[in-house]
Amino acid sequence: MQKHILIVEDEAAIREMIAVALSRAGMRAEHAPDVRAAQEAIARKVPDLILLDWMLPGVSGIDYARRLRRDELTREVPIIMLTARGEEDDRVHGLDAGVDDYVVKPFSARELVARVKAVMRRTLGDSENGNVEVAGLRIDGAAHRVFADGKPVSIGPTEYRLLYFFMTHADRVYARDQLLDHVWGGTVYVEERTVDVHIRRLRKTLEPFGKDNLVQTVRGSGYRFSILV
Ligand code: CA
Repeated sequence: MQKHILIVEDEAAIREMIAVALSRAGMRAEHAPDVRAAQEAIARKVPDLILLDWMLPGVSGIDYARRLRRDELTREVPIIMLTARGEEDDRVHGLDAGVDDYVVKPFSARELVARVKAVMRRTLGDSENGNVEVAGLRIDGAAHRVFADGKPVSIGPTEYRLLYFFMTHADRVYARDQLLDHVWGGTVYVEERTVDVHIRRLRKTLEPFGKDNLVQTVRGSGYRFSILV
C-alpha cells in the first residue's frame, strides 16, 4: 500500500524538496505550511507518518508533537522532527514529546527518505514491500495476497485492508471509529456498523483456515487482533 506522508514545514522550498524525494520513493506526500493546515489534512486522512519542522509560525513543533500524541487520531502516527543545526541539544525534549526520530537541516533527500523508511519499518513492523506474518497468516503486500499456512486465501479489498491493519497493529484494541479512520480513511462517510459487517466477513474468510479466532471482540471497546485468546 502506498504510504501517505504529511510534511508540516513553513519553508516552501524545503517542503517541495521533500515532497519530490518522497514521491520518487513511491510515497504520497501532502504539504502543510502551518498547524492549522496540518490539522485539516489529518481530518481528511490520517497520514502514515508526519515530518514536522521544529520551528513553525506561532507554535513550536515540539508543542505540536505533544498535541498529536495526545490526540486519539494521531497517537500512534510516527513523527520525524526536522531541526536546524544547533538545536540537537534539544533532541532529548523531542524524544520526550514522543517523537520517533529527528533529522538535522540541511539534509539530503536520500538521507531523509532512508530515515522515513527506517522509522516506518520500526513502528509498523513491516518490510519494504509490506510483508507481514502472524500466527501462520502471511500478507504479501506487493502482490496484495493473503496466505494461511501457505494456502492462498480469497479475500475482499476491505477485508484485506482490515486484516493488514490488524496484523501490523496486533494486540491493541481499536474502537469502531478508530478502525474507520485507519482502514477506511477520513474522507469517506461510513457508519460504524459497517465495521461490524466487515469484521464478520473477515472472520468468515479466515474460518476455513481455523484463523477466525485471531479477530477478537472486546466487549464495550471494539476489536483486537491477537494470537492470545
Ligand atoms: Ca521553520
